[in-house]
Amino acid sequence: MKQRHYDVVIVGTGASGLFTALSLPSHIRVLMITKDAIDHSDSYLAQGGICVLKSPDDFNSYFEDTMRAGHYENNKEAVKIMIESSPEIIEDLIRFGVAFERDKKGNLLYTREGAHSNYRILYHEDVTGKEITSTLIQQVIDRPNITILDYTTMIDLIVKENTCYGIIAEEKDGSQEAMIAKSTVLATGGIGGLFENSTNFPHITGDSFSLALKHQIELENLHYIQIHPTTLYSKKKGRRFLISESVRGEGAILLNENRERFTDELKPRDVVTSAIKAEMEKFGTDHVYLTLPSMTKEKAQQRFPNIYQECLEEGYDLTKDLVPVTPSQHYLMGGIKASINGETSMKQLYAVGETACNGVHGANRLASNSLLESLVFAKRAAKAITKQVQTLSFCCPLTLPSIYLDERSRAMENLQLIKKELQRKDPIFYEKWCHFSSES
Ligand SMILES: Cc1cc2nc3c(=O)[nH]c(=O)nc-3n(C[C@H](O)[C@H](O)[C@H](O)COP(=O)(O)OP(=O)(O)OC[C@H]3O[C@@H](n4cnc5c(N)ncnc54)[C@H](O)[C@@H]3O)c2cc1C
Repeated sequence: MKQRHYDVVIVGTGASGLFTALSLPSHIRVLMITKDAIDHSDSYLAQGGICVLKSPDDFNSYFEDTMRAGHYENNKEAVKIMIESSPEIIEDLIRFGVAFERDKKGNLLYTREGAHSNYRILYHEDVTGKEITSTLIQQVIDRPNITILDYTTMIDLIVKENTCYGIIAEEKDGSQEAMIAKSTVLATGGIGGLFENSTNFPHITGDSFSLALKHQIELENLHYIQIHPTTLYSKKKGRRFLISESVRGEGAILLNENRERFTDELKPRDVVTSAIKAEMEKFGTDHVYLTLPSMTKEKAQQRFPNIYQECLEEGYDLTKDLVPVTPSQHYLMGGIKASINGETSMKQLYAVGETACNGVHGANRLASNSLLESLVFAKRAAKAITKQVQTLSFCCPLTLPSIYLDERSRAMENLQLIKKELQRKDPIFYEKWCHFSSES
């Protein structure tokens, strides 16, 4: 099998992978790979925005909102780090060229989403993820120490005695290659691609988690899966279009089959999701309705251009019509157990972003905390990796197998391992919410 050698291999080109790469010094040789096109990440799809501590006197309230949404199961140290680091991370983004919305005087504008008691979310129209991710991608492309391979899939880790020496990847042409590295970073996002109804890209299928199960890398709370209350209902197959919480933050209401309001639309996601599910069961329907009559068409087109247009293409004017919405899989709070510096239970292996579970979100994520979390802990992981890389030399102590399973068999193996783990961790949640795409 062919081999390549880099100081660091990063698997995934979402916000967390990109920011890890950009936070490493320029003398470190980095390889980034991604399973699909470079901008096909869930980070790119983020609509609502990114939280920030806009002034020190909002700390307690922001901390409490995050803890309450997470059912107080959050790792308090991680929450504190995330909030305190947020102004620095936003400065980094602005320095890289991210354009957040501002008023005429140039002051940053803030919006609000469910379970936030204050306006503290920065945004760019309703395509914040696209703005952040494409800016970071351009920065990465401009760095001579970073190589990017798209349409290249990690299919295994190179492991000996609980130490990771890189990955095995399958490239565009189907050839398999050993990518040897002193440090390996898993930034492969969540598991939405496995689900029948999800807001995630279909290729984001939790590959890191099945490899973790295979190599006995510690996982934490893999069953902590967030179901987003409001995705555009459609009979078509494929990715579910998200109608961001910021639409409810700006006044949209939820109605049942009798056109009655049935919940406080700004409660945490899991509470709103349960309320919707109860109404669907009560009326025997597969959706409820969302509408934004308090906003003019012109204002909605300016504030939510992407969401307004997508609803229109399905035949609904968000400001006048009742838009059918239904809950879908959206985010994973659990994942590979990671320290506040991204270290996993395996030496020389790091996890960042949605793949990692450092406990910051507890049992349920507060809206717009995930882009921030991805960036804060990616930067910290990069610091730890920089120190480690200096102390190591290249080594691949294994005789590598010449061929791995084909794509379809790998996908089946991946699904079976993850299904088993989810069922083991929470059989009731599994029964109620875990419907997988390959089984529909
Ligand atoms: C529709 C939508 C809207 C959202 N809105 C917001 C929001 O407003 N605010 C907020 O904070 N968060 C939001 N989120 C969540 C947020 O975008 C993600 O949780 C976060 O960006 C995750 O980033 P990541 O880098 O961990 O993973 P991702 O951005 O998901 O990137 C994963 C990467 O891993 C690659 N990959 C996966 N498997 C492999 C493999 N085997 N080999 C090689 N590469 C692989 C993928 O190709 C991709 O490049 C939203 C998510 C969605 C889906």
